[in-house]
This record gives sequence, C-alpha cells and structure tokens, in this order.
Amino acid sequence: MVWETNGPEETFALGKELGQKAKAGDVYCLNGDLGVGKTVFTQGFASGLGIEGPVNSPTFTILQEYEDGRLPLYHFDVYRIGDVEEMDEIGYEDCFYGEGVCLIEWSNLIEEILPEKVTSIGIEKDLSKGFDYRRIVVEERI
Ligand code: ADP
Ligand code: MG
Repeated sequence: MVWETNGPEETFALGKELGQKAKAGDVYCLNGDLGVGKTVFTQGFASGLGIEGPVNSPTFTILQEYEDGRLPLYHFDVYRIGDVEEMDEIGYEDCFYGEGVCLIEWSNLIEEILPEKVTSIGIEKDLSKGFDYRRIVVEERI
C-alpha cells in the first residue's frame, strides 16, 4: 500500500490509523533517512494506541516503553546500535515476541534478528513534489 502525504499532520494521521489497528504481538519496522518523518509517524502511531505522554526518538536508550495505551508500545530506535548483541542486553526477544506492539526505527540495521512476520514502513522524500511531500510504503510480510 502506498500513501502520499503533504505535511507532518498527514503523516501523523496515517500513523494514528495504523496505531488504532495494531494488535498484540505486531512488529512494525520503520525506515527512512534522517528528517524524513519517522518520529512524526511514531507519534501518530502512539496516539492511535491511546498513549498520551510525549513520544520522542529514544536515541540514547534504544528502547522506550509506553504502558499507558491500549497495548504496551515498545519503541526502538536502533540508529546508534553498535552490533546486535546490544539488543540481547536490552532483552529484545521479550518485546518482539510479547503481548505488546513493537515499532522499530532503523530496523534495517538489525535485519538478522527481526521476526519473519512484520509490517514494514518506508518513508521517502521526493523534492520534485515539494518540500513537505512524503511517499510512505506500507508492506505486510506474512
Ligand atoms: P526522523 O524521525 O525520520 O528523523 P522527524 O519525524 O524527527 O524525522 O522529522 C521530520 C521533519 O519533517 C519534521 O520537522 C516535520 O515537520 C517535517 N515534515 C514535513 N513534511 C512532512 C511530512 N509530509 N511528513 C512528516 N514530516 C514532515
Ligand atoms: Mg526520529
């Protein structure tokens, strides 16, 4: 499924829609260059899960958990990960194969430990279509 947005509020709304549909055990993989809108999407997604607190990139902690929504959200941002052993230390398996919802920014960096069944979301700019244009591809692997 391909979506096109023309501003952060539209990307937020798409994230929110997917957050509303998310089910226990779902894993969402989010990829795209710096500044493309991954965090905006994640904020919408968290809002769709009913999470009210502020959601930012957990860049220095890799994992941030939110417990105040309809389901627990495990928000990973693995941009600064050195190697996948750091994921073991975090106890990622309890998150990936648990009863909450995982959203992993920069999941391409930890491809080898991702579950088989994930929903992958790629966000891209296309400056020929305007500064605020984003192309968002949502693909469910089953
Ligand atoms: P990332 O987490 O991918 O590094 P952010 O979500 O932090 O990126 O930042 C995206 C920036 O792009 C924000 O400043 C946002 O306002 C801006 N922006 C402009 N157009 C869009 C759009 N269509 N979707 C998402 N963000 C957009
Ligand atoms: Mg970010």
